[in-house]
Amino acid sequence: MRAKENSARRGAHAVKRRIALWLTLLTVLLTVLLLVYLLIISETVATQTAQNELTRVLRENAARVSLLEGSFQVAADFRFSSGGITTLVYSRGGALLAGQIPVGYRARLPFESGVIRTVGEETKYMVLDLWVPSGWENGLWLRGIAVAPELRPVTSNMILWTLITLPLFALLAACGAYLIAYRAFRPLARIHATAEAINEAQDLRGRIGLPAGEDEFSRLAATFDGMFERLERSFEAEKQFASDAAHELRTPISIIKGACEYTARYGEGETPEERRETLEMIHRQADRMARLTDGLLHMTRMEQGSEGSELFRLDLGAEVTAICAETYAAEGRLTVSAEKEIFVLADRDLLSRLLCNLIENAIKYSDPPACAAVTVRVTRCEGEALLSVSDRGIGIPPEAHERIWQRFTRLDPSRADGESTGLGLAIVRGIAERLAGYMTLESEVGMGSTFTLHLPLI
Ligand code: ADP
Repeated sequence: MRAKENSARRGAHAVKRRIALWLTLLTVLLTVLLLVYLLIISETVATQTAQNELTRVLRENAARVSLLEGSFQVAADFRFSSGGITTLVYSRGGALLAGQIPVGYRARLPFESGVIRTVGEETKYMVLDLWVPSGWENGLWLRGIAVAPELRPVTSNMILWTLITLPLFALLAACGAYLIAYRAFRPLARIHATAEAINEAQDLRGRIGLPAGEDEFSRLAATFDGMFERLERSFEAEKQFASDAAHELRTPISIIKGACEYTARYGEGETPEERRETLEMIHRQADRMARLTDGLLHMTRMEQGSEGSELFRLDLGAEVTAICAETYAAEGRLTVSAEKEIFVLADRDLLSRLLCNLIENAIKYSDPPACAAVTVRVTRCEGEALLSVSDRGIGIPPEAHERIWQRFTRLDPSRADGESTGLGLAIVRGIAERLAGYMTLESEVGMGSTFTLHLPLI
């Protein structure tokens, strides 16, 4: 068992490794994507903010400068340098009138109003020009210069940290995924080992036996255990059937064999009367064998649960009256009293088989059978539907009340010998259980018996 669990575990390792690998790759991919996305966003936001600031400062300064009769004037709050933005004032012809070019700025750009341009090699500058008109022809150029936002140091820091932490995260993801998969797959190894043990040893007694739970594996294990249970019952029933059948058929077979051997040896001296008796005996035993095999087959199917009849909502009183009328029309000794509209879930064939078994017993075990008085009743009591068959026959002693439901129990084998198989009541109880009901018995020796089927009402 342990070796098998190990082999099952090895099989599950491949799946676990694949899950761990997949999760690790996913973590790495997500982290890289997140990093790229963050860099793009921060670059865009920083550039946009710097450009907005440059435009705002230059527009404000444009309102504070003017050209009056050829000479320009600046208001007191004109900002030549503000928050890293330098403003220069140029004449129409391009001569610098005021302001100080930032150290390191060497670009020579023609003026172009309203367009932000980026220039410079080592240090990048953003340049924005504004034309401030004065009269029809004259005016001034304002040029705003700001160092373009430099994201590279931040970016390389981020990449460095990501490169350091990414393997750690990947390792963590891989270990976590492997651990979770390992725990999740542990029951699978047990299911596999049990199934294999059952398969190899042909021993259906093995069970997975996982503790009850809501997860998929616990439910799968419970289903498997249920299946093993059913298979075991079915195999047991099969075995029991074979041994019961062999045992019960042995008697009629040996009687038939004996009769045949006798006739073969002494048949010539037999009178026609003796020959008829021998043939009748063989016929009776063959009948008994047929009844036995019928009953055994029916019982085995019932025990296996393969008697797949569907249950319908039936009016119990109406069904019972109809069955009695069809089967025992000529029986003067049968009294039927049935309340109408007592509804139960049942199958007509099963009901008929149960009723006939009980009625036949009631007749068989009356003294003498020909004088049997049998009453069939359908009533309702305390939320149950009751179907009872009463006789005034020989009765059953209290110590046998439990035993008679077991198969092949015959209290008095000499009575009704040919017809008795000892299977009737076992079949009756099987049917009652199939209909979600149960049987009870009241009986007194010499006074008679009442067998009652209790069914849930609907
Ligand atoms: P069978 O009738 O074929 O022997 P059953 O399983 O129907 O098998 O009955 C088992 C035994 O219970 C019978 O052999 C008989 O001894 C006893 N029994 C069943 N029904 C009655 C009854 N109505 N009155 C007295 N004894 C009964």
